[in-house]
Amino acid sequence: MIDALPEKGVPAEQVLAELRELRGADLPTHGGRLFAYVYDPAVDGLDELARAAHAVSASVNGLDPTAFPSLLAMENALVGAAARLLGGDADTVGSVTSGGTESLILAVKAARDAHPEITRPRLVVPSTAHAAFAKAAHYLRVELDVVPTKGLTADPPAMAAAIGPDTVLVAASAPSYAHGVIDPIPELAAAAAARGVRLHVDACFGGWILPYLRRLGADLPAFDLSVPGVTSISADLHKYAYTPKGVSVLLHRDEALRRPQYFAYADWPGYTMINPVISSTRSGGPIAAAVATMRSIGDAGYLDLAARTREAVEILAAAVTETDGVRLYAPATTSVVCLASDGVDLFVLADELAARDWHTQPQMAYGDLPPTIHLTVTASVRPTAPAFAADLAEAVAAAQARGPVEVPELPPLTPEMITPELIAGLAQGLGLGGGDFSRMAVVNTVLNAAPPALREALLTGFLSHLQRPPKR
Ligand SMILES: *Cc1c(COP(=O)(O)O)cnc(C)c1O
Repeated sequence: MIDALPEKGVPAEQVLAELRELRGADLPTHGGRLFAYVYDPAVDGLDELARAAHAVSASVNGLDPTAFPSLLAMENALVGAAARLLGGDADTVGSVTSGGTESLILAVKAARDAHPEITRPRLVVPSTAHAAFAKAAHYLRVELDVVPTKGLTADPPAMAAAIGPDTVLVAASAPSYAHGVIDPIPELAAAAAARGVRLHVDACFGGWILPYLRRLGADLPAFDLSVPGVTSISADLHKYAYTPKGVSVLLHRDEALRRPQYFAYADWPGYTMINPVISSTRSGGPIAAAVATMRSIGDAGYLDLAARTREAVEILAAAVTETDGVRLYAPATTSVVCLASDGVDLFVLADELAARDWHTQPQMAYGDLPPTIHLTVTASVRPTAPAFAADLAEAVAAAQARGPVEVPELPPLTPEMITPELIAGLAQGLGLGGGDFSRMAVVNTVLNAAPPALREALLTGFLSHLQRPPKR
């Protein structure tokens, strides 16, 4: 337990030692064995550079670029680099945000506020679109029209049919997070443009690797601002640009499209607030760290990192294909390997992989889609990838020997029944009381069987159960 307000200040060395000890419980962010949450290029010296750059600008406030022109210059540089990489031209403008979710919320806000005459604005997305669109719709009171996909990609005729007079935005992914597949952007953008509706490309995940994969010869469809009808695109720098957390870019085709993204307010006694993004006060640290990282790696460096990532994907995908009991669920054409069961309990398999220090991301069943295991592959995986095949085969054998988990008898639950007491009891009963989350198969099986609304209530309750101040 850590006291953030000790009676007397604690010496710096001790504070840092305590933080390092806490970090010891976390999953490994480096070493190419964690396939979600972190993006590691495994480039010597890069972490140190990013940390030093972060320190240079940590106290600078992005609230007012006239007071801190260093930040304005750095943000313009990041937007310029993204525009060059993602098919922009001299008219392209953009904003630096804190992450993909913020970029998507702002893309939806700009589209909504461009049409004050539409009182019930709607957003059309394929069912594989990132959950952040649902969050944007919820926060902004925009109705979400979720269109079933054809296979794993957006279905252009069905998406076109979903566009109505109140549609302010159509969105699609390049690629989708869950499966790593690219939606047919040219067809979708043409359909949206024909109706005079904006089209946003969510390239949060792939924005900084797809252009390089295409340059390396991968046969991937066009997806960026070079496609007619694409009005905005987002790319998370804290994913494949390998910058520290807290930086994404949202590009618009031109300034008029960006204009309704801004929030301005002069009608109070303080300073006139003009915010292009959600936060007002924000640190220059992540932005400086991003500039430093990108200038250090450079275009040639990103091409090389993409090549290493591709090799890692091919090695992992081959391991899945060659292992009885699992199969590739989606073609591994980008930087995701997504596998499904061919006779093994996937949630037990995920635990068995974790026991062998491979940390993957189980994905629950959705509609007709079965549960899958997701692997986000980064350049750091290239050296470790060859060791994966043997461990996967062993893990599958171990999972088959263990068999499917036994799920405790649970009363039929509905979201309304989820109380803090019930969650505390469940957490205890499922072995989550002690803070050890390494064996999750039973929990995942319970969650997988729960309809989405119940799963949301259970996990919200559980997170709320965890998020409490330490007992005194
Ligand atoms: C990661 C991701 C997001 C959300 O980004 P955050 O940085 O986690 O807020 C949105 N869309 C896609 C496709 C993503 O991969």
